[in-house]
Amino acid sequence: MSSLQQIIRTAVRPAVRALSTSAKPKSEEQNASSNGFCFELNETQKEIQSLARKFGREEIMPVAAQYDKSGEFPWPIFKKAWSLGLVNGHIPAHCGGLEQGVFDGCLVVEELAYACSGIQVAIEGTSLGQTPVVIAGTKEQQKKYLGRLIEEPLIAAYCVSEPGAGSDVNGVKTKAVKKGDEWILNGQKMWITGGGVANWYFVLARTNPDPKAPASKAFTGFIVEKDWPGVVPGRKEMNMGQRASDTRGITFEDVRIPKENVLLGEGAGFKIAMGAFDKTRPPVGAGATGVAQRCLDEASKYALERKTFGVPIAQHQAVAFMLADMAIGVETARLAWMKSAWEVDNGKRNTYMASIAKCHAGDIANKCASDAVQIFGGAGFNSEYPVEKLMRDAKIYQIYEGTAQIQRLIISREIVEKAKAGN
Ligand SMILES: Cc1cc2nc3c(=O)[nH]c(=O)nc-3n(C[C@H](O)[C@H](O)[C@H](O)COP(=O)(O)OP(=O)(O)OC[C@H]3O[C@@H](n4cnc5c(N)ncnc54)[C@H](O)[C@@H]3O)c2cc1C
Repeated sequence: MSSLQQIIRTAVRPAVRALSTSAKPKSEEQNASSNGFCFELNETQKEIQSLARKFGREEIMPVAAQYDKSGEFPWPIFKKAWSLGLVNGHIPAHCGGLEQGVFDGCLVVEELAYACSGIQVAIEGTSLGQTPVVIAGTKEQQKKYLGRLIEEPLIAAYCVSEPGAGSDVNGVKTKAVKKGDEWILNGQKMWITGGGVANWYFVLARTNPDPKAPASKAFTGFIVEKDWPGVVPGRKEMNMGQRASDTRGITFEDVRIPKENVLLGEGAGFKIAMGAFDKTRPPVGAGATGVAQRCLDEASKYALERKTFGVPIAQHQAVAFMLADMAIGVETARLAWMKSAWEVDNGKRNTYMASIAKCHAGDIANKCASDAVQIFGGAGFNSEYPVEKLMRDAKIYQIYEGTAQIQRLIISREIVEKAKAGN
């Protein structure tokens, strides 16, 4: 262990852990005086938010445009964030992690995404890869694979999508076949965040060859190490936005997986892969909220500086009302991720609210980015100004972790089920 890691383990990490609690009111007194709802962060959460805000503004914002242009992976920023405890917050205590709630993690995500959502996803996308192990791993699997991420600044990735299967996860063709004490994995994954920089992957593969087998039994989840023979990451994809994030296809050719790396058991993969979203969609909503807030702030500032017809454009009602609509979106997107995160931290089923949070914030980020470009006029269309990047970065929030249409499908199914049950 390096001396820096020693310092982190003995000083910084415990300090951040001490900061990390679930969303409780400050005191009994405050609780008694409230009507049950509390819209105020506790002192600990304010400190987490302020640490993340400072990191975002001082470490990320100044280099955001540079990483957007180069598409380079922001390793120096990841390592700094790692050393401060701003990544891996949710890793259980028995692996040396902070065991933070989803809510506290979302506070960090929103602040970092405000600074640059591409860098935020590059350094926090590892959470998506880790969540299946957090929710379904044995203590040994967690210690080995999550513990490794605490010991060293390493990354995990989530491999479910394929060239022919995104929304329709049941269409996954990557397969694993049992051979003695091992599984042999073959197939092709696509659009994997962190695909080229990860140390290990969560991989979903079909293990039941019967095409009629229900999804709930047909797939198994595995932990696969990147250095194993037969694991071949593809080229980095050039995406519209969030370009600091590393997105790749990955080929698996006769990869031998020991049986110890099966998560939960044969046939449990679909449930694990989908169950992870209850914990990861609130942070996606928080990231989109950060982007929307940045759009509002940039547009408000510009609307005061830019004059037409002798007055700042903020004084034209058409512009002022655009700002008002952006603010309505930002505030409601934030409330939605907060509720969905609070629910899962408090042991409530949050699938419905997580989809609302992700879907609403994704749509709002896009609306706010488009309106911000509009308010900037010609300058909004130019890459020397910040809002052009915000518009490119925002689009992905309506696509990954379930498209806007798939979220509406989930929400509408929940409504129909409730109506059928007479609730
Ligand atoms: C930058 C980036 C990062 C990503 N990171 C990851 C990752 O880390 N791991 C991973 O596994 N995947 C990842 N993905 C994949 C992502 O989750 C999928 O792209 C997404 O789920 C959509 O799947 P698709 O691209 O196959 O589109 P399709 O499923 O082909 O959908 C195409 C269109 O049809 C619509 N559609 C499809 N089915 C329905 C329906 N039933 N009803 C209504 N409309 C429908 C969709 O909403 C969409 O508009 C990433 C993608 C990108 C672009």
